[in-house]
Amino acid sequence: MKYGAVIFDLDDTLYSEATFVESGFLEVSKFLASVSDLAVGVDEIYGKMLDSLRLHGRGKVFNDVLEWLQLNVQEYLHTLIYIYRNHSPRNISLDSEMKELLIDLKNHQLRIGIVTDGTYVTQRNKTDILFHDLILDCIIHTDSLGEHHWKPSTEPFKVASKLLGVNPNQAVYIGDNPVKDFKGPRCIGMHAVWWNPYHKSFNFSDELSKPDFIVSNIQMLRKHLIGSQDDQ
Ligand SMILES: [Mg+2]
Repeated sequence: MKYGAVIFDLDDTLYSEATFVESGFLEVSKFLASVSDLAVGVDEIYGKMLDSLRLHGRGKVFNDVLEWLQLNVQEYLHTLIYIYRNHSPRNISLDSEMKELLIDLKNHQLRIGIVTDGTYVTQRNKTDILFHDLILDCIIHTDSLGEHHWKPSTEPFKVASKLLGVNPNQAVYIGDNPVKDFKGPRCIGMHAVWWNPYHKSFNFSDELSKPDFIVSNIQMLRKHLIGSQDDQ
């Protein structure tokens, strides 16, 4: 057996993070429609936020929409951040092919874990919904170990190995982000696979930041994880 445990990243690996962002923007839009004196509807505010996202990225959306609504940025910004981070994203769901793969891995007696970065309450709300009907062996929210143990820290991967009952070299981590996903696992001898469906390129700064293997579709990933196990 090639691996005893398979550990996944969450955002943009097992589900589309854009669906979470849209869900958060909708909740923020509902709030802003309720406090604005301008009689602007939820849909219009939501559309404005999506326009800002497309034009400027995620960092300026709340500032842009508050300025557009002529609301005081300093007065409202943290309220919007709070709504966004704490809302329950009921519309998000696992990628269907990834969900099938998770079930398949379980049927092959592989242990399955998650290591995910981000504000704890935000990520916890996501995992509560995404895995409501699927029992995994461990879900590590790196934020619960402290912000200094977000990826690429090795600590969440050590904890995951312990909870999954495997040595790091018997486990593999699958993630989409070459900036931070591979160094933590590889520094403790864990294998790392880059989930790269859009065929992005990346200049890795050092050997330990590189993945062992790159996959661009679910068939390749399945073959790497299960096919190689069946070959043993
Ligand atoms: Mg990710």
